[in-house]
Amino acid sequence: MSQEEQSYPLTKPFWDGAHAGSLMIPQCQACHKWQWPVKYRCTRCGGVLRWTAATGRGTLLSWSEVLRAPRPELKALLPYVVVFVALEEGVRIMARLAQQEHLNLAMGQPVRCSFQTMQAEFGSIELPVFSIVEG
Ligand SMILES: [Zn+2]
Repeated sequence: MSQEEQSYPLTKPFWDGAHAGSLMIPQCQACHKWQWPVKYRCTRCGGVLRWTAATGRGTLLSWSEVLRAPRPELKALLPYVVVFVALEEGVRIMARLAQQEHLNLAMGQPVRCSFQTMQAEFGSIELPVFSIVEG
């Protein structure tokens, strides 16, 4: 087990899914509500959560251009855009926009999740990114 896995056991299924190209989100086994951010139990009914593959499809709610990197490994990406997305599953998630171009973004645009490999201090990691779905 790597140092990273020991540090974040709650989110390990998310990172395992990302490594396999799948956006994993916890879903309640009792009421089927999707849960994000990650919790230990369902916030609606207290039911047990199971990591489940989401579609990766959603719509753009908002975005912001980042001009100053919060971590050294993000400096090479500057400037980049962080998007706030409503997934089809009913949860909202923040991630980076895959494209550098962001001048034509609009609320409600359809987006799709994919993953990009990034080098971090503990090794490489796959991060979710969203792309605008054209047409
Ligand atoms: Zn529930």
